[in-house]
Amino acid sequence: MTILALDGVTAGYGTTTVLRDVSLSVGTGQIVAVLGANGAGKSTLLRTAAGTVVPSAGRVRLDGADATRHPPYRRARRGLCLIPEGRGIFRGLTVEENLRLQIPRGASLGEAVERAVAVFPALRERLKTTAGTLSGGQQQMVALARACVTDPKVLLIDEVSMGLAPIVVDEIFAALRGIAATGVAMVLVEQYVGRALEFADTAVLLRKGRVSYEGPSAELDERVVLRDYLGVG
Ligand code: ATP
Repeated sequence: MTILALDGVTAGYGTTTVLRDVSLSVGTGQIVAVLGANGAGKSTLLRTAAGTVVPSAGRVRLDGADATRHPPYRRARRGLCLIPEGRGIFRGLTVEENLRLQIPRGASLGEAVERAVAVFPALRERLKTTAGTLSGGQQQMVALARACVTDPKVLLIDEVSMGLAPIVVDEIFAALRGIAATGVAMVLVEQYVGRALEFADTAVLLRKGRVSYEGPSAELDERVVLRDYLGVG
């Protein structure tokens, strides 16, 4: 079942158009990787889905309803969660306090903590640690754990591997796979093309704000993507 869809979206900032006629859809438990060169519009696509950028044309559908004009908090209530580049955690607060801020109405801190450490067991010992003092990988885990606490239907994840050691990235991708296996849909923006193709079911390639390819990621070769679609390498 389709959870999130962009239909013919044109969007940008002020008079600058970044995305042109972009369509994309992601279903329950499905992982879509959005690939593109710097400035292609990947982050803008995620922001348009999340509602911080409002399209000038086209529609955004979330869980069967038109959300094009819905503000970000309404989309969040319907199960959409954006994990921005730079992680968006509160570095001055402890891990537990970061989780507490995400707790949905009616849920307890205990439940939130259990949900988070089920996905990232390493966080259990660090609940009282100030988030800003954690390693980059652990901070990324906090960001993802906060998202899990909200019981999301779709995660929009911007550059999850940015600045992390390959072994930590492996750990995070394994956790994401586990989250997807519970039925959560994911739209993943990623610089590491090879890793993203391996991880995702579907790849969407953006070139100068337009979709230049959409299809099964297994049919794409990393070198071909870099050369023919993204114009690099
Ligand atoms: P990167 O990998 O460099 O983050 P990207 O594919 O995510 O690139 P975007 O961040 O979506 O690309 O940026 C697309 C274009 O929009 C760029 O030309 C960028 O300068 C511009 N842009 C991004 N954010 C803003 C903003 N807040 N205000 C104005 N222009 C912006």
